[in-house]
Amino acid sequence: MTTDVKNVDFKQLAVSGVQGLHPYQPGKPIDELARELGLDEKDIVKLASNENPTGPSDKALAAVQQQFAELTRYPDGAGFDLKATLCEVLGKEGCNIRAEQITLGNGSSDILDFITRVFVNDGDNVVVSQHAFSIYGLDAKMAGGEALVAPAKDFGHDLDAMLALINDKTRIVFITNPNNPTGTWLNKQELLSFLDQVPTQVLVLLDEAYFEYVAEADYPNGIELVNQYPNLVVTRTFSKAYGLASLRVGFGISSPELADLLNRVRPPFNVNAFALAAAQATLLDNDYLANSVALNNAGMAYLTGEFTRLGLSYIPSVGNFISVKMPAGIDALAVNRGLLQAGVIVRPLANYDMAEYLRISIGSEKENQVFIRALESVLAEQTAAQVNA
Ligand SMILES: *Cc1c(COP(=O)(O)O)cnc(C)c1O
Repeated sequence: MTTDVKNVDFKQLAVSGVQGLHPYQPGKPIDELARELGLDEKDIVKLASNENPTGPSDKALAAVQQQFAELTRYPDGAGFDLKATLCEVLGKEGCNIRAEQITLGNGSSDILDFITRVFVNDGDNVVVSQHAFSIYGLDAKMAGGEALVAPAKDFGHDLDAMLALINDKTRIVFITNPNNPTGTWLNKQELLSFLDQVPTQVLVLLDEAYFEYVAEADYPNGIELVNQYPNLVVTRTFSKAYGLASLRVGFGISSPELADLLNRVRPPFNVNAFALAAAQATLLDNDYLANSVALNNAGMAYLTGEFTRLGLSYIPSVGNFISVKMPAGIDALAVNRGLLQAGVIVRPLANYDMAEYLRISIGSEKENQVFIRALESVLAEQTAAQVNA
């Protein structure tokens, strides 16, 4: 066999789903902007990835510290202790879950990848909503499938439109509640009516990444429904309200049968020992969660008040982020560039079919103020440029 290394087109060799993929675009990292602008990292405010602005739980820090001595050891691949604590904590909230129903992920994105790899074959499809988290469609394409996108209703999921897209080739419907980046949410009655109509052989992945922030009375707890709907998988994460985005840990809850299938594609030791220990400690730290939620509520009230003062419209959000619309004639990407120059990182939403919007994660009191000041001056500059044009 002859090999002419220079002329190999490796893209041709990649599996077909991968050839057409565009990688997920995360929020710009703080150190990257600091390098570009020659700024100190401390002078940069990042409100782009829905991270918890409070810093980690002290209990999580202590648990991580304790793990240092065990650096030479593999983590517990079964995550026994974390699963036991999850069962206990969920049990107190009225969710009767057994350890066999839990799949641990390196972030909840891991579970989204697992469910797609288990169920989506070449030529299959998944149903997603317009303006939903882009990872769902990426995973499906990687598996050789496609994402059917249902138009949104008032920026939220239109469950009837999603039901209408289900066909013989549909394997999974992805529901995000509340949705990122819109912050819209579905109530219990809407969700139950949807679950009752989805054919049982079609899986429903209910992504509850922002569950802990929501206080609305008729917001459903998906985990309560898992024992009733055999096709339902609920995911949650430690990356947001629990403040552990760096460690990468999340989980799925489903029937034991589905959990068994998801665990078959789970790489061994996918969750490291620091993440396992920190997640367990944070779960038991009620004050941390209560503080994080209270800070978020105060920050949300401040930002929405300021948007109103500035005459900006926004999509009411129950998450730890809010999407705000730029005034007519003002380019959101130009505003984003202006904010970056001022050391403030937010998320432009052109990739989410919302080109006029910017998504702002709720930060600390100080970060929110820095952002508002920067936004006000960038908008003034942009408006002046518009007048002069
Ligand atoms: C942030 C987020 C996640 C969580 O990602 P991790 O992998 O757990 O960090 C999942 N779904 C949505 C919609 C998110 O916004």
